[in-house]
Amino acid sequence: MTIKFGPAGLGSVADAEKVLEQYKKLGFKICEIAFTYSAYIKDKKDAKRIGEKAKELGIELTIHAPYFINLNSSEKEKIEASKKRILKCCEIGEELGVKRVVFHPGYYGKTSREETYTNIKKQIKEILEHIKKNNWKIKISPETMGKINVFGSPEEISNLVKETGCDFCIDFAHILAREKKVDYEKIKKLFPQKEWHCHFSGIVYGEKGEKHHRTTEKKEWEELLKNLPKDKEISIVCESPTLIEDSVEGMKIYEKLK
Ligand SMILES: [Zn+2]
Repeated sequence: MTIKFGPAGLGSVADAEKVLEQYKKLGFKICEIAFTYSAYIKDKKDAKRIGEKAKELGIELTIHAPYFINLNSSEKEKIEASKKRILKCCEIGEELGVKRVVFHPGYYGKTSREETYTNIKKQIKEILEHIKKNNWKIKISPETMGKINVFGSPEEISNLVKETGCDFCIDFAHILAREKKVDYEKIKKLFPQKEWHCHFSGIVYGEKGEKHHRTTEKKEWEELLKNLPKDKEISIVCESPTLIEDSVEGMKIYEKLK
């Protein structure tokens, strides 16, 4: 089993290469670029340069798309804007040599769970068609979500993968917050694919699910790493507030468990 560890964040365009070198020294093999507030790498030359550096250092890059996405909005313009945001990440991601764009698919709002699923599935299919038309290699990965009133249960994401051919992101902290426990056997059945892209951190949650991420405790890392399947290629992006130290800690614990 190989697990790639790394943080959710690369920092500014100007510092990106320096940061990547630091990551390499720390032993990170993956880095998720946070376009969560905007797709801040705009210049294609910058993207190429950063992508080449990452490749040279053996660090895989992924992108987290902006939070402002709702593929089930009741307003058509908002759906279109959401798709555009994802496609913008794909476009710049191609220059960066990024493997996948992770995104939060949307909200149930006033529509039923079934209807929400159907709507989101339709939009994902359209995005995939656009990617295909452009001959892009990038994957799009809807994420399992932590709040019970937000679309993205493990079952919903699994079905999207089955029915559209999209990729996925398993956020174990979100699953814990949403379902109050992580049923690893269920997750293995829902995601039989060889490659798992995962998010992880400690999490504070209540009845309605996720409240906020927090630093991962040692025993939480241990539980996750013991329960992950052994026959897959796994990447774990750490999203805690202390993501660098936390990723290092996870890696150390993994080395001991191996
Ligand atoms: Zn996310």
